[in-house]
Amino acid sequence: MNAPVHISEDFLTSIRSIVGEQRVKTDHDSLMTWGKDHTKHFDPNPSVVVFPATTEEVAELVKLANQYHIAITPSGGRTGLSAGAVAANGEMVISLDRMNKVLNFYPADRMVHIQAGMITEQLQNYAEEQGFYYPVDFASSGSSQLGGNIGTNAGGIKVIKYGMTRNWILGLTVVTGKGDILHLNKGMIKNATGYALQHLFIGGEGTLGIVTEAEIKLERQPHDLQVLVLGVPDFDAIMPILHAFQSKIDLTAFEFFGELAMQKVLDNGHVQRPFETACPFYVLLEFEAPYEPIMDKAMEIFEHCMEQGWVLDGVMSQNLEQLHNLWRLREDISESIAPFIPYKNDISVLITHVPAFIKEIDDIVTANYPDFEICWFGHIGDGNLHLNILKPADLNKDEFFAKCQVVNKYVFETVKKYNGSISAEHGVGMTKKPYLGYSRSAEEIEYMKALKKVFDPNDVMNPGKLFDL
Ligand SMILES: Cc1cc2nc3c(=O)[nH]c(=O)nc-3n(C[C@H](O)[C@H](O)[C@H](O)COP(=O)(O)OP(=O)(O)OC[C@H]3O[C@@H](n4cnc5c(N)ncnc54)[C@H](O)[C@@H]3O)c2cc1C
Repeated sequence: MNAPVHISEDFLTSIRSIVGEQRVKTDHDSLMTWGKDHTKHFDPNPSVVVFPATTEEVAELVKLANQYHIAITPSGGRTGLSAGAVAANGEMVISLDRMNKVLNFYPADRMVHIQAGMITEQLQNYAEEQGFYYPVDFASSGSSQLGGNIGTNAGGIKVIKYGMTRNWILGLTVVTGKGDILHLNKGMIKNATGYALQHLFIGGEGTLGIVTEAEIKLERQPHDLQVLVLGVPDFDAIMPILHAFQSKIDLTAFEFFGELAMQKVLDNGHVQRPFETACPFYVLLEFEAPYEPIMDKAMEIFEHCMEQGWVLDGVMSQNLEQLHNLWRLREDISESIAPFIPYKNDISVLITHVPAFIKEIDDIVTANYPDFEICWFGHIGDGNLHLNILKPADLNKDEFFAKCQVVNKYVFETVKKYNGSISAEHGVGMTKKPYLGYSRSAEEIEYMKALKKVFDPNDVMNPGKLFDL
């Protein structure tokens, strides 16, 4: 645990004069709560937590931080998996919890203007109330905020059809590291007036500034969703199944998980095994089936996959409750394995390379982790694998992470060989910072650092995340 950092009374008085006495917290519990995200690698050690309500208040706080040379950690729903929202070095945490309102709705543009502290699920519900759909979705969307989703360019379970958070952002209001307020793109679909600066803040992990508002595109609601869960004999069967379905049907999801992941979810007792056969792997696929011929086509492909030996068993949802329960087999994995303090890898390659890549990664983990439980799952339809190594009960956390890091080198060398990403959707933060060079060239990183200096010349915005200056 780092020593507590003391900030001057003068600084605290100035913060209080911006947001009000009640919106500044320095008690131990608040510091420990808002000073961290979902990771357990780094101990939180912020000096103060502040809850602004408007973009203008955020701008004043950032200016103050520049004046007093205090670092800032932007904090959203704190569900991040890369320690991007961990304030480990006396930072001022700026939490967007109070900035959770809908500011405007434009039905003709199919667009909503929100404050960035809005919870992802609240936006999904709001869209539904208006007869629309916000498709970015994942297991933590009940807690994560749009600002955090934008900061990490969050993906999730519907990317195969709808893409990442970036695809849904039509405009951003940001406060830069200098304290300037920028209104970027203002919701327009067409705007050919030079650099699209909003995209720098999407996936920027709060290192350039704080996203305070967003104009977000909405979609038509999906109709008559169907879910299939299929048991498969090995990794080699997964991609042929994807190709077989995707060549004939528009999939809204294509996920995979191993038997160990299935067991951990079943151990929680909320859902049951979908069919009797225990299989090495499972795929979950989802599609819209508003017309009978689509269902017929799906059954035809399913039978073809069985004949080819790619599928050992399978089940299709018969009603909405079954659909939700089948989804829980995939959606409950992260929470079910959380007690085992998993060492998480979130890697991706081109779909073309998935079969060869997965084989090499499997060889590495089998050779190097003979005594560890390996939990595979992920958004395989997007080329994205979550490789989770579970901590044995008798090993302490530090020893366990140290052992995992030894093998990272081999995993990330393989990622580099396939021109892949060391972080598909969780961000770099502090946990993946040492490995950025496996996915980004030295020149690229220099350009990123130069950009950071433009937006944040005094390095107050989330220093120590993504890269060190
Ligand atoms: C059970 C579980 C399942 C998950 N599944 C997925 C998944 O399928 N796909 C996926 O992509 N992620 C997933 N995640 C990770 C996480 O939910 C996402 O990264 C999410 O986008 C983080 O949002 P947040 O609001 O919690 O951000 P935080 O954790 O609070 O912050 C994340 C980063 O964004 C920055 N930030 C926060 N708010 C702002 C802001 N307003 N302006 C600028 N920067 C900001 C922070 O400083 C930090 O660097 C999962 C997490 C859990 C716990």
